[in-house]
Amino acid sequence: MNTDATPAQDARKELSEFRGRLIGPNDADYDDERAVYNAMIDRRPALIARCAGPDDVAEAIGFARNHDLLVAVRGGGHNGAGLGTVDDGVVVDLSGLNGVEVDPEARTARVGGGCTWGEVDSATHEHGLATPSGIISTTGVGGLTLGGGLGHLTRKHGLTIDNLLEAELVLASGEHIRASAEEHPDLFWAIRGGGGNFGVVTSFLFGLHEVDTVVAGPTFWPVEAAEEVLSAYREFLPNAPRELNGFFAFHTVPPAPPFPEEIHLRKVCGVVWCFLGGEEDAGEAMAPLLEAVPEPLMHGVAPLPYPALQSMFDGLYPPGDQWYWRADFVKEIPDEAVEIHARFGAEMPTMKSTMHMYPIDGAVHDVTATDTAWSYRDAVWASVFAGVDPDPANVDVIRRWSVDYMEALHPFSAGGAYVNMMMDEGQERVRASYRDNYDRLAEVKGRYDPGNAFRVNQNIQPKA
Ligand SMILES: Cc1cc2nc3c(=O)[nH]c(=O)nc-3n(C[C@H](O)[C@H](O)[C@H](O)COP(=O)(O)OP(=O)(O)OC[C@H]3O[C@@H](n4cnc5c(N)ncnc54)[C@H](O)[C@@H]3O)c2cc1C
Repeated sequence: MNTDATPAQDARKELSEFRGRLIGPNDADYDDERAVYNAMIDRRPALIARCAGPDDVAEAIGFARNHDLLVAVRGGGHNGAGLGTVDDGVVVDLSGLNGVEVDPEARTARVGGGCTWGEVDSATHEHGLATPSGIISTTGVGGLTLGGGLGHLTRKHGLTIDNLLEAELVLASGEHIRASAEEHPDLFWAIRGGGGNFGVVTSFLFGLHEVDTVVAGPTFWPVEAAEEVLSAYREFLPNAPRELNGFFAFHTVPPAPPFPEEIHLRKVCGVVWCFLGGEEDAGEAMAPLLEAVPEPLMHGVAPLPYPALQSMFDGLYPPGDQWYWRADFVKEIPDEAVEIHARFGAEMPTMKSTMHMYPIDGAVHDVTATDTAWSYRDAVWASVFAGVDPDPANVDVIRRWSVDYMEALHPFSAGGAYVNMMMDEGQERVRASYRDNYDRLAEVKGRYDPGNAFRVNQNIQPKA
């Protein structure tokens, strides 16, 4: 009989103070518990430590250290590269840290490190308030925030990190600390863009803005009009008021309401809008683009409660699809790049594959490249080329399209990419994405995680 205990069995014996749940490969629900959003990622951790609070986080990290096991930290589990899980290591699962406390007077929200944005948006919306985040409600607050955070409110209110006031962390040593402009400012600088490299964030404090009903939705044109629409869009967007966010996209129209039947499954290019203000002002703000291009197939813009916009894409992109994506920052879109976009847009390999070009100008440019770790304050768009399909048989075709599309456009890019939309692409790519901030990040890493305990991420190598 094999008497060797598994890590999960050891953990149950050793972590007597652990209040959450310890899950191992012999548990009946192990397969459900180890699954992450991207079904292309199929990792088998030795232990999933579902933490109930910061003390559990410290216990789980200590256990991994004592047993020489790799640690992965899972917030919402949405990372495309699967950086919220690890083979044979310990997954520190934060899904139990999901409280949201809104202070409407102070206009702040204290948010558990394992919350999803849907949980945050619904709590803040009760007070007509919101903080900038991403465009799908099941995405985790943890990963999205620590990597930067861009979405529908970016042009007006900046990146998610630009609205972060403080964070509470458990370090690799097990110590609990707070990072803010006053406390551990070096760490506070680093976690605003530097990812989960420095510790496990157990709670975030965000500033909130008045955002209630927005005027939002997509405008679609035939994919054949892509060159004309994108050429007009690249001139229009940087001059539009900050209240207007509009990301350029390629999609295939889903075969379901609210889309008119005659355009179901049609490949389109489009802009997904979010205007902070009334309908009339929204119309005026969008007019210069709409008047410069042919009639759209659909102009689906209407007043919506903000959380309805935030979950608009949830039905199209549920957990469990295969995802492969590449990304780049972009400062300008020359004619050659417009042509390349039009070609790859017309060749989208599956119904769910897509390209989004998120604006990162406006309020993002009010912060300098060295104020936070997020270096690309001079870029105007963050592009992502996402091959998506439910069928694992299509993995090669979606990967090929995404890689070819990105590589064709890379010569016209700013050099690096948004770390939250990268696969596991190696150290050079990580360095390129932090540029001059990389060395400072490496120093901070050397102070807070000298042994690189947190290395299942877009890794910053610690400097001694
Ligand atoms: C469908 C989809 C839509 C998206 N839309 C957007 C968007 O609109 N805007 C945008 O900016 N990004 C977007 N993203 C990218 C997203 O920001 C990243 O995938 C991010 O990593 C997800 O965070 P998570 O907590 O869900 O991921 P996880 O897989 O749980 O974690 C990702 C990384 O963050 C670390 N991490 C997570 N939580 C913590 C924590 N509390 N403390 C320390 N480290 C932590 C993990 O260790 C890991 O390295 C989207 C992703 C998907 C799949």
